[in-house]
Amino acid sequence: MFKENTILNMAKRVLRQFCDRGQSRFENGRLYLPRVYVKQLGTTHRVKLRVIQEAPKYIFELEEIEPSPYQIDKHDQRISFCCNICGSINTEVAMDIVSNREAASCGTCHSSLRMRSVINALSVELLGESIQLPAFPVSRNIRGIGLSDWEGYASRLKNKLSYINTFYHQVPRLDITNIPDDEIGKYDFVISSDVMEHVSYKDLGKAFTNMARLLKSGGFLLLTVPYKPDGDTDEYYPDLHDFKFITTKEKTFLYNRTVDGVEQIFNNLVFHGGGGFTLEMRMFSESGLLKVLADNGFAGGVRIYRDNDEKYGIAW
Ligand SMILES: [Zn+2]
Repeated sequence: MFKENTILNMAKRVLRQFCDRGQSRFENGRLYLPRVYVKQLGTTHRVKLRVIQEAPKYIFELEEIEPSPYQIDKHDQRISFCCNICGSINTEVAMDIVSNREAASCGTCHSSLRMRSVINALSVELLGESIQLPAFPVSRNIRGIGLSDWEGYASRLKNKLSYINTFYHQVPRLDITNIPDDEIGKYDFVISSDVMEHVSYKDLGKAFTNMARLLKSGGFLLLTVPYKPDGDTDEYYPDLHDFKFITTKEKTFLYNRTVDGVEQIFNNLVFHGGGGFTLEMRMFSESGLLKVLADNGFAGGVRIYRDNDEKYGIAW
């Protein structure tokens, strides 16, 4: 924003002089203004303004800037940050890498923005402030459970807390749609990072309810999913019932038979990092997420972490 204002003010100054000198002229009943070229930080921006008032003085507003200073900013900008997962210092990393949700932007542990954001939220919820994971106090009385968590922070959490990482397809196994009774009410926190978009529609409510059931009173769910800010959740396979994947040389298809016996075939499947377990079933929306949470055990309140913390490389 700052950069755009600077460019805009330079362009306005040039055009005001141009008009004051009487160099402007009318064309088809409109005041003709030339484009202004403003060079900033090595990039030349072509700026087009329009006049919204002529007397007592000229007032201009922006019509277009090419290239946009925002695009340039992202490529040019670099930040230095301390990784809140491994504690190492990363210097002068390109902002478009650091602000990419999934890019491995820490040179030491290869954490991404999403992973650092999980630890940031965990730290604030557990300890009341954001500190780096290596500085967490050892607290074996805090019990946590992860659903297919990233090993980069899972292994470090194990050294600090009574934390166990679980998997759908390998030991230690946990199927969140069917949890054992002796796990109920045992945990201070559950981490579910980019898992719920892979749970089939018919099991989704149960998965959320079970995450709530794993928690002690006062415990919390730390949830991430890809989601869009507006609209409703897009459910890609709402009638999934008896289904299998069919892989040909070129492509994988999803074959489904609905409860009513209707056959469906889907292509254009999106998998996150391999096999059948990671099929993307939906794109949540923010309101859709809040609703599924409220309807399934999390009516008590949701806090959405939107703030950046650039010292820890959290720059959305
Ligand atoms: Zn790191």
